[in-house]
Amino acid sequence: MDIISLYDQLFQKYGDLKWWPAGTHEEIIIGAVLTQNTSWKNVEISISKLKENGNCSLQAISEMNPESLKEQIRSSGFFNRKAQVLKKLSDSVIMNGGLESMNTWADMDLDLFFSGMFGIGKETLDSILLYAFYRKRFVVDKYTNNFFSRIGLLNNNENAESLRKNIEGSLSVEQLKNFHAMIVNIGKDHCKAKPQCAGCFMKNSCDHAKETMFP
Ligand code: SF4
Repeated sequence: MDIISLYDQLFQKYGDLKWWPAGTHEEIIIGAVLTQNTSWKNVEISISKLKENGNCSLQAISEMNPESLKEQIRSSGFFNRKAQVLKKLSDSVIMNGGLESMNTWADMDLDLFFSGMFGIGKETLDSILLYAFYRKRFVVDKYTNNFFSRIGLLNNNENAESLRKNIEGSLSVEQLKNFHAMIVNIGKDHCKAKPQCAGCFMKNSCDHAKETMFP
């Protein structure tokens, strides 16, 4: 199955999910850090608290008392570490002229800047580059790995890099944003840790379903 056909199949089911769910680019970055190792429901509570207190911006976080920041993001878990990550990230972005100025940077420079930062792993980096800077990035997470392995496009991670290049070369930035959102949705609806193939709309074109349901 090629990437465009796969995208179309998912799109027929889910349509445009309008990700990332945030009002500003700074909120996307804050959410990308807060969502590490926790559910989006918990992140929403933290974002609401930051908003209620007028602190949902990198400038405000940079100026905040660390203890207040920890308190306001407590619901997202690992709040000591996440507060440290957000503080360092906010200070660095502001020192470099803010997001508008950084948006003129080349992909490689943004990559080096964020990947060298404390607490920013590959998934967070790619989410920030795709959703806050509109750069061509395919976000890989647990849902993606499960889904691509099972449908037969990822072979024990051996072709992970070529698959990523194929996806980034086949889809536009807008499609990449929605592709990740749709994969998260199918991961939550059907392609869970224990896949629920019987009710899944992909079952007729999925290797795992063919092997397990129609052996
Ligand atoms: S058919 Fe099963 S394994 Fe395939 S995508 Fe759907 S839930 Fe996942």
